[in-house]
Amino acid sequence: MLVINSIEKGIVIDHITAGLGARILSYLDIDTSKHTIAFIMNAESKKHGRKDVIKIKDVTDVDLANLGLIDPKATVNVIDGHKVIRKIKLEMPETVVNIIKCKNPRCVTSIEANAPHVFRLIDRESQEYRCEYCDDIVSMKEER
Ligand SMILES: [Zn+2]
Repeated sequence: MLVINSIEKGIVIDHITAGLGARILSYLDIDTSKHTIAFIMNAESKKHGRKDVIKIKDVTDVDLANLGLIDPKATVNVIDGHKVIRKIKLEMPETVVNIIKCKNPRCVTSIEANAPHVFRLIDRESQEYRCEYCDDIVSMKEER
């Protein structure tokens, strides 16, 4: 069992679906010259099989909606004074802006460079989002 020292202040992203930790880490784009990061891949979890875990020192504000889009099964623990002060279960956001890109070449977002890419959740189970402009459907399951 791998033991990582607890952090005094920061966040622990736990129960990440094994294999998605790297995507979350690259999305967070943490400045590693300022922050200490522990990234544990394929940790054994009694309840959920394999998981990834990310601990980031001295960072407490992350975009939870976007993290929920990458992995709705993960949980975020906000740590202060070595204690968990907030535990957040991620979920798929209802609306996402400029994260998913529409692949329809006729869509206004493909033609106009400045048009925001707005998608709305239509099915939580199949993780499907619909483009606000052209009704094209993107499944996040396939995106992974
Ligand atoms: Zn579109």
